[in-house]
Amino acid sequence: MTPTKLTNWAGNVVFEPERYVRAGRVEQVQELVAGARRVRVLGSGHSFSQVAATDGLLLSLEDLPLEVDVDTAAATARVTASARFAHVMPALHAAGLALHNTGSLPHISVAGAAATGTHGSGTGNPCLAAAVTGIELIGPDGSLRTLSAGDDDFDGSVIAMGLAGVVTALTLRAQPAFDVRQYVYDDLPLDALISNFDEIMGSAYSVSAFTHWRRPVIDMLWRKQLAGDPVAPASYFGARPADGPRHPIAGMPTENATQQLGVPGPWHERLPHFRFEFTPSRGDELQSEFLLPVEQAGAALAAVNEVAPRFADALQVAEIRTVAGDDLWLSPCYGRTTVALHFTWVDDLRVVAPALAALEGALEGFDARPHWGKVFGLGRERVRALYPRLADFEKLVARVDPAGKFTNDFTRTYLELAG
Ligand SMILES: Cc1cc2nc3c(=O)[nH]c(=O)nc-3n(C[C@H](O)[C@H](O)[C@H](O)COP(=O)(O)OP(=O)(O)OC[C@H]3O[C@@H](n4cnc5c(N)ncnc54)[C@H](O)[C@@H]3O)c2cc1C
Repeated sequence: MTPTKLTNWAGNVVFEPERYVRAGRVEQVQELVAGARRVRVLGSGHSFSQVAATDGLLLSLEDLPLEVDVDTAAATARVTASARFAHVMPALHAAGLALHNTGSLPHISVAGAAATGTHGSGTGNPCLAAAVTGIELIGPDGSLRTLSAGDDDFDGSVIAMGLAGVVTALTLRAQPAFDVRQYVYDDLPLDALISNFDEIMGSAYSVSAFTHWRRPVIDMLWRKQLAGDPVAPASYFGARPADGPRHPIAGMPTENATQQLGVPGPWHERLPHFRFEFTPSRGDELQSEFLLPVEQAGAALAAVNEVAPRFADALQVAEIRTVAGDDLWLSPCYGRTTVALHFTWVDDLRVVAPALAALEGALEGFDARPHWGKVFGLGRERVRALYPRLADFEKLVARVDPAGKFTNDFTRTYLELAG
């Protein structure tokens, strides 16, 4: 019998570990980690890069008991590594609480999202890992330790791509629940976005601009505004309100997307673009994303537009978002308010590679950090130059994992690590 292939969500990464184990108890994880030569954890497998791959032990924590312990008085939730946002969000909402933001889909694991610096949109909203206030993690000898915000190693251990240890639980900071209205506008001229970038992207709680880079137009501007805020004018910088629901990718069923047309609803049913019950995005796709200082947004968008004819045929859709800065050492948003330029490509690396090279060429000079969980071609030296706290992170990993048990080819490509 041919064994079933173990792949990531997109199918572009085939995992070929020495051993794959779905662990059901924390003590079992401790024993497995202590006895293994090399270990990586596979979260929900939504990364497009080789970040989770290993030639050693690949651990899934999806069978750990699912716990979402909400502390209403403290406005926090402790969630185990088996939790996906789809589990955490309704539990928080039922307690009158909310996360500050979500990614585009609720299907991803909280631990995996934190590990790569996954983000949503909103000039005032930092990445999702910024809500983490506590981490429980297993070291290479199998011992379990807890880190809290303010501890010396904390800012280096939240976004760590699994290098600081196997995370068994996280504590998240919450805020009072809120309602959101989502409005989509069609055909915003690219010039209008470039000239009014801060105003447009900062005009609602969370704003996403979708384009195909085939004409100098933002095909759709998705504005997720607090329900009580005034509605934007019918003609918005030249864009017009959509006459019906939209999906980020043209031709895909709009019922997969969250409710639009200004119908108010709870934060967790509006901030993600996709509903949990349906396949998010398209499925047959690769993704890349580059995050650069927001001050350079206009110039970077103009530079990308210049080379658009060289990559547009490989593109299904692109999204522009903003993210607040944070203090997490490996965060693509470390130390700066950020514009995130996202690209959903066709599902064929041979077509995507030259498109990506053209794009990365255009973004050279913009200090554009690649999303750790998506496809990029930037080399080691270029990546290393982008992270001011990289050396501190490497020292941290050398201390907590001196033999490099948690490293893999991907992380050793960009970081100076043992193993
Ligand atoms: C359709 C789609 C939409 C997406 N939308 C967004 C978006 O809106 N914004 C955005 O920023 N990104 C987005 N992403 C990317 C995605 O959020 C990241 O790749 C994220 O890391 C996925 O989490 P995961 O659990 O699937 O992690 P995996 O891909 O399984 O793993 C990612 C990393 O986390 C590590 N890890 C996972 N769990 C643990 C653990 N318990 N302990 C230690 N290390 C662990 C893995 O070892 C690996 O290094 C999207 C991806 C897809 C497929």
